Amino acid sequence: MAVIKLEPAFKDYIWGGTRLRDDFGKRCDFDKVAESWELSCHKDGPSVVAEGKDKGLTLQQYIDKYGKEVLGTNCGRFESFPILIKLIDAKDNLSVQVHPNNEYALRVEGEYGKTEMWYVVDCDEGAELLYGFKKEISKDEFARRIADNTLLEVTNSVPVHKGDVFFIEAGTLHAIGKGILIAEIQQNSNTTYRIYDYGRVGKDGKPRELHVEKAKDVTRLAPAKKYPETPVEKHEGYTSKLMAECEYFSTYILDIDGKAELEAGGDSFNNLLFLEGEGTVSGGDCVEFKKGDSIFITAGTGKYTVNGKCKAVLTKIGK
Ligand code: ZN
Repeated sequence: MAVIKLEPAFKDYIWGGTRLRDDFGKRCDFDKVAESWELSCHKDGPSVVAEGKDKGLTLQQYIDKYGKEVLGTNCGRFESFPILIKLIDAKDNLSVQVHPNNEYALRVEGEYGKTEMWYVVDCDEGAELLYGFKKEISKDEFARRIADNTLLEVTNSVPVHKGDVFFIEAGTLHAIGKGILIAEIQQNSNTTYRIYDYGRVGKDGKPRELHVEKAKDVTRLAPAKKYPETPVEKHEGYTSKLMAECEYFSTYILDIDGKAELEAGGDSFNNLLFLEGEGTVSGGDCVEFKKGDSIFITAGTGKYTVNGKCKAVLTKIGK
């Protein structure tokens, strides 16, 4: 039973900006801070316990120390930690990409596939992202348009606004556009097939690798499947709205004003990623938070309280 503040790992990809440092107070010396990995047991960028007696342990080391009970019974069906939560600051366009599903990824890559979702934390006026196709196209047309560089004529560009939610099932073609800051909740996987990269070069001066053949295998050549709209639920001290629920994660957006009583039962841990405001989370331990902080509440903590005026993404693992 514990409430733990986490310190993220950072990535300085070429398209990143500086807002995670300038606006979210992240302590990182990179020129560009493209991503902060806020809830991660991935070897490419683990989160670390930020304070208290376990300060300095990676989240995975923390789980190894206290046992899988801290994750909850719903995590029992996964071999490893099931999800990865990031903040992403796209100063420039990200590559057009797709992720495989589990079946394909396990067979071809020996890793899980990736379904993900985005919550738009902030964006520039007129910002857009790429989300699936305008209409269904054939495999031949897909191949031809990749070859002659006209793919973007048939993909679906969506204007975005603060608070928008996008559910990106494995197989959905997508790209975050420039000027968008996103909270991303995803399956714990780093398998990405890049199809188009705007002709850019990486830090080594060479074009970044494309994975066109694999992308052809896994891309669903149709409009993206949206997650159905859900109602806002009113509770004492806060409102809650389900953003997406799938085999891997259940995510909610919470608006808290005052005192919100939440619960981390024996079935799943809770993660709170705070996007605005400040306050405290108490459940045995009492931890202060501000905008940008990620708080992990172990399964079995039971009722805990968030005190403050804030907005947060709440993530759990469902049945
Ligand atoms: Zn992606």
